[in-house]
Amino acid sequence: MATVLFVYAHPDDESFGIAGTAMKLKDEGHTTGLLTLTRGDVGMWFGKEKGSWTPDELARERSKEWREATKVIGFDHCRLLEWPDGGLRDSPVERVTADVVELIRELRPDAVCTFGPEGAGSEHDDHRAASFFALRGFHRAGLPEEYPDRGPAHQPKRLFFNASPFVADFPVVAMTPTHTIDIKKYEERKKQAFECHKTQFKDRDRFNQMLERRGGKEFFHLAVDRSRAIGRAGDLFQ
Ligand SMILES: [Zn+2]
Repeated sequence: MATVLFVYAHPDDESFGIAGTAMKLKDEGHTTGLLTLTRGDVGMWFGKEKGSWTPDELARERSKEWREATKVIGFDHCRLLEWPDGGLRDSPVERVTADVVELIRELRPDAVCTFGPEGAGSEHDDHRAASFFALRGFHRAGLPEEYPDRGPAHQPKRLFFNASPFVADFPVVAMTPTHTIDIKKYEERKKQAFECHKTQFKDRDRFNQMLERRGGKEFFHLAVDRSRAIGRAGDLFQ
């Protein structure tokens, strides 16, 4: 049995992209973990830019929603950090990487999944930053001389980016899928996971449209494979 760690930026990212895959892995007896880097404290609350809440109140509410969603999905391990929402890109690189490394060394996953470097469909700065930190942590977790105070080295074998098949006339830049997971059976529970994020119901239509467009599937792009040496001779078009 394997262990898979998912690394994302905001509470609700887990429900959009990979909830079905995480549910399926769990049902198959694998171990799943989620690392969310921010509490979503500058997001909208029920679609309003500003209201009577403070960023801290929103962070607390979204943390609760995140906990509920992670229970619906059934992650074995969850960690919610407090790096600033909207400011992940400008957060101290070594410290955020160290946090990713720490959880990789604790859970010792076989694979790590995160957003593609383009930041998924929304191309959000925090999504792009989450991808960078996950990739950076993925490689450094295996080097004992890096962050020696964050646990014994562990090198996961594979790193996947969220992916999306090319759709004509649909201007989303995303990775080409190398792996497609059938999550038809989990679609209702995936919806329930999103429904926990009540403050984010402005995105509910988008969530349901994405679910429909993906036709019961979630897509991944194998970006790093350290389980085998590659580098066959050939040209770029073979
Ligand atoms: Zn997000």
